[in-house]
Amino acid sequence: MKIISSPLELKEYLKTLCGDPEKKVGFVPTMGALHEGHISLIKKARGENEVLVVSIFLNPTQFLAGEDLDKYPRRDEADKKICELGGVDVLFFPHAKDMYGEDEVSLLAPKVRGYVLEGTSRPGHFNGVLTVIMKLLHLVNPHKAYFGKKDAQQLNLIQLMVKQMFMDVIVVPVDTVREKDGLALSSRNAYLSSQERQEALKISASLYLAGKMVSKNVLTTKEIVHAMRETLAPLEISYVAIVNRDFEYIEKVEIGNSIILVEAKVGTTRLLDNIWL
Ligand code: AMP
Repeated sequence: MKIISSPLELKEYLKTLCGDPEKKVGFVPTMGALHEGHISLIKKARGENEVLVVSIFLNPTQFLAGEDLDKYPRRDEADKKICELGGVDVLFFPHAKDMYGEDEVSLLAPKVRGYVLEGTSRPGHFNGVLTVIMKLLHLVNPHKAYFGKKDAQQLNLIQLMVKQMFMDVIVVPVDTVREKDGLALSSRNAYLSSQERQEALKISASLYLAGKMVSKNVLTTKEIVHAMRETLAPLEISYVAIVNRDFEYIEKVEIGNSIILVEAKVGTTRLLDNIWL
């Protein structure tokens, strides 16, 4: 596995490695502190491409002032090992100063879809996400890029960006990986005390309850959200929302076109989860 930190060196190296334009390049962008969720993206990408590039970049522009940028978990050596074992060909591990200049051209998230749900709790967050993903996609120029459904709104906005900017990359959504007890894997789970981890299970429990209600033909979103909020109590809820795949609020769950999302705070940690129905 080749580890590269310079963006231009990455471009050059990929040119020589990929030589033949028919060679399929897969790309998995991450912020590090890799876990089984990231590994499932890496495995899927490994299986579908001849060249596999993973990036680890704790992107400062997607963190708002006062958020956890400085304490975000870092496990650089373990991450490198995981990538090596996962058959990664190139690990791109840039420094922020190499990714951003002083007076930056920036990309703005759409005014509606970028400012609902997580965009309400973190206004401007998706500007940073889209800007860095655009930069990374230009650098790697992959055929396919892999993103977790766990970050459903991020995935949706990236799909929208790729479509509206007429980009050729195929965005591949990957299912959420969970612990046996239901907790969705997240690098931020490292912040939870054992008691908080227990409380965090209310999040997946609320989603399972929603799934069960839908399977019993309770489709009214108001009713489902109400029951979910009862399950989530006393957690501080940022939102419980039921949207269609275009991220518009809906009144009735439509099977095959709905996502139920939760963001709640456990202690000081904000956790996201969702199910796709
Ligand atoms: P992050 O390092 O948190 O930016 O995540 C990198 C990628 O891994 C994103 O596309 C996430 O959606 C995805 N991801 C994070 N957690 C999970 C999970 N539990 N299951 C599947 N994908 C995940």
